[in-house]
Amino acid sequence: MTEQEQTEEKLFKDLGLSPEIQQAIDEIGFDKPSPIQAEAIPELLAGHDVIGQAQTGTGKTAAFGLPMLQYLDPANDEVQAIVLTPTRELCIQVTQALRSYAEHLDIEIVAVFGGAPIRSQQAQLRSGAHVVVATVGRMKDLISRRSLVLTAARFVVLDEADEMLDLGFIEDVERILRMCPSGRQTALFSATMPPPIKRLADTFMYDPVTISITPKTLTVDAIEQAFVEVPGRAKVDKLIEVVKEEDPEQAILFCRTKIGASRLERDLKNRGLDVKALHGDLSQGVRDGVMLAFKNHRCKLLVATDIAARGLDVDHVTHVINYDIPNSSETYVHRIGRTGRAGRTGRAITFVTPDQRRDLEQIKKDVKASISEWEKPEDRIEHARPPRRKRRGEQPAPLDDQPAVAVEEVEEFDEVVEVPLEGPGGDQPETASDDIPDAREGAVKLFVNRGSRSDITEEDLRWALREGAVLSDDQISDVRVLERFSFVEVDGDVAEKTVEFLDGTKLKGSGIRVEIARS
Ligand code: AMP
Repeated sequence: MTEQEQTEEKLFKDLGLSPEIQQAIDEIGFDKPSPIQAEAIPELLAGHDVIGQAQTGTGKTAAFGLPMLQYLDPANDEVQAIVLTPTRELCIQVTQALRSYAEHLDIEIVAVFGGAPIRSQQAQLRSGAHVVVATVGRMKDLISRRSLVLTAARFVVLDEADEMLDLGFIEDVERILRMCPSGRQTALFSATMPPPIKRLADTFMYDPVTISITPKTLTVDAIEQAFVEVPGRAKVDKLIEVVKEEDPEQAILFCRTKIGASRLERDLKNRGLDVKALHGDLSQGVRDGVMLAFKNHRCKLLVATDIAARGLDVDHVTHVINYDIPNSSETYVHRIGRTGRAGRTGRAITFVTPDQRRDLEQIKKDVKASISEWEKPEDRIEHARPPRRKRRGEQPAPLDDQPAVAVEEVEEFDEVVEVPLEGPGGDQPETASDDIPDAREGAVKLFVNRGSRSDITEEDLRWALREGAVLSDDQISDVRVLERFSFVEVDGDVAEKTVEFLDGTKLKGSGIRVEIARS
């Protein structure tokens, strides 16, 4: 049996987790540990420092979160653990995940991040926090205001360390690490290991165990992969053709350089496409705005460089287009992992110039994927159409009556069907708009794309509003859960903030979309 197969056979109960944590995992519905969890949890429980080379989507939050929670002492009111994150989105996401894992523990987890009032975060810290999940800047700020002391923080996690480096936070991270006890346990997660991160690990970690999730494990089977061979000068035209044919719900177009990304954005805009760009030449504020616009479906195409797109966790990306072929197989896997999330199918299309065919062959070999030549969707369906599944007693339909896409695909999509981009009031299923009364005066109705079918209850939504969007109970006037989606009503002045904090995050393991409902 290979090492990989052994890892896959491990069960959560083999990892040494406490009954309370096991119960939470069972309730969340995690079946088996992911590879990073199977390897990192026993090491962390044994007290070792761990470097996990893994990106979002691999289950890294539980990999560090479960052992961390297990070792906290609820009776001790000091901050015993900190998790540093590069962005507010990740900060909120990690906090929500940790809270769900700590469901049966008496552990307080507080999120502190920029862009939200510091006073309420100070108040939350004052009323007790065993774990603080923070963005770097806000943590520094709270330390300098003496609202946070780290003398008892014996468990430290650096999440997405390479992104913290990219955003220029690494010196601050080092300063924060120096304030933590020297006998602490440190876990560092990073998709890549550039030299400054290696140096940081050498300086601040004690004999760490490195766990790398290989590209093979990262590749999601649900991603169909294709390539387009095209001379450099014809790339833009070909891209426009591919985008029109594929008609993505949302797509990320990857470029290798910042200049290339700006140029492509300009070229596509000039041709009338709805596109935004995300790259390192933009300020953090602009980047946040672009990310938010993309998450909220206010733009369909995002041109991005590898570094800028890290940490972008969006569930509805149906297509990744490698406009420039990535410079390594590892980057290829990271890029295409942006689609095919949450059990959906995704497509990855890689552009190669004739002299880059060899690079493509290398990727195919490393990733062990079949990357076939791109075909227009209609041709693809013709080729791929499987025999129609016959229901009992049903005569085969004449060919002309058969659906335009394979029946299996239709059934699969039916399971994960999403409310169209227009949101409620547009193409939304009729039951919802008929059922829902107008919002109370001064309140705003928000639409959430999950309902009882995703196992979401009214209490879950109230919890998300309280904990994720930091609302008080009197700011929430109504919560209504329907089968496939829900409506919540919140005070008008906190509606935008609620969307910003909750849209694109996860609830009970499902990505949720939150938007203002159109009346
Ligand atoms: P992360 O990489 O921590 O952001 O996790 C990605 C997604 O995988 C989250 O939605 C988790 O809830 C989910 N997840 C984490 N661990 C498991 C597991 N063992 N089985 C199934 N889903 C998981």
